Amino acid sequence: VTRLKAKLSKSSNPFGKALFNILAKDNLSESDWEDVEDTLLLADVGSEASEELVEGLRRDSRVNGDADPAAVREALRSKLVDLVNVEPDRALNADKPGATRPSVIIMVGVNGTGKTTTAGKLARLFVSEGKSVMLAAADTFRAAAADQLETWGSKVNVPVVRAEKEGADPASVAFEASRRAKEENVDVLIVDTAGRLQNKANLMDELGKIRRVTEKNLPVDEVLLVLDATTGQNGMVQAKVFAEAIGLTGVVLSKLDGSAKGGIVVSVQRELGVPVKLVGLGEGPDDLAPFDPEGFVEGVLA
Ligand code: GDP
Repeated sequence: VTRLKAKLSKSSNPFGKALFNILAKDNLSESDWEDVEDTLLLADVGSEASEELVEGLRRDSRVNGDADPAAVREALRSKLVDLVNVEPDRALNADKPGATRPSVIIMVGVNGTGKTTTAGKLARLFVSEGKSVMLAAADTFRAAAADQLETWGSKVNVPVVRAEKEGADPASVAFEASRRAKEENVDVLIVDTAGRLQNKANLMDELGKIRRVTEKNLPVDEVLLVLDATTGQNGMVQAKVFAEAIGLTGVVLSKLDGSAKGGIVVSVQRELGVPVKLVGLGEGPDDLAPFDPEGFVEGVLA
């Protein structure tokens, strides 16, 4: 929690300051409230949620006889926490009691969002919990992607299943990996996939097939979408495509260390109904943390 807060406030969040400067006034005019709403929009909170939040704040401040700035701040903080905490069940399915073994996690997302890096960090996280892990490079489109996953595998000491040659069927890698994971009875199999969004029909076919063939060997426990926090509301368009293509059980918000605009957390949970389970806070193996709503909001408002 403190790490998330520290990382977020290190990027010296402009939104919290802007909000507090407005809310510190004694009498908030119509245009002040509009400024509050605009500031939330700039932080990617999404128009519907921003509007609701401002309406709620205005209503409360009227009811409570207006503008004790400290009270308004506290109201803002707690309303933001409520917004961010709409999907409170954030545990990874592999960590839940009664999880199937091997637990299978499919990682999806647009190339460049941090999918492979997140797969590596996630492997490390499970290893640190004493679980045995296997990685699968089902992005066979670029050899570099499998190489990158292999580098992560040796970094975190986890075996990597990859295709013999570039351009092989990604589903065949997923099939082979799930077969081996079952045979070797590992705790968690993490399957990295390609994310070429240019051709939606192909992407849907490919991900659908990966899921189907994996399920011939093992149930798929988790599909995690990796979303780059710096892409703002565009991320929502991507998220919807993947939700439609394969179905999601959770989101990893990557590169939160490089963005003050984490408001996408609100939209993605409200619009897709899936929790943000983890956040990426850097490029290193330990830069992955469970998402914590309170810490997140405190970081934003710091
Ligand atoms: P993929 O194409 O989706 O598999 O993306 P990669 O895993 O190759 O990541 C793309 C770039 O983003 C790499 O340079 C990563 O080191 C970087 N990256 C991934 N996650 C994070 C993060 O949480 N924070 C930062 N700062 N960089 C990240």
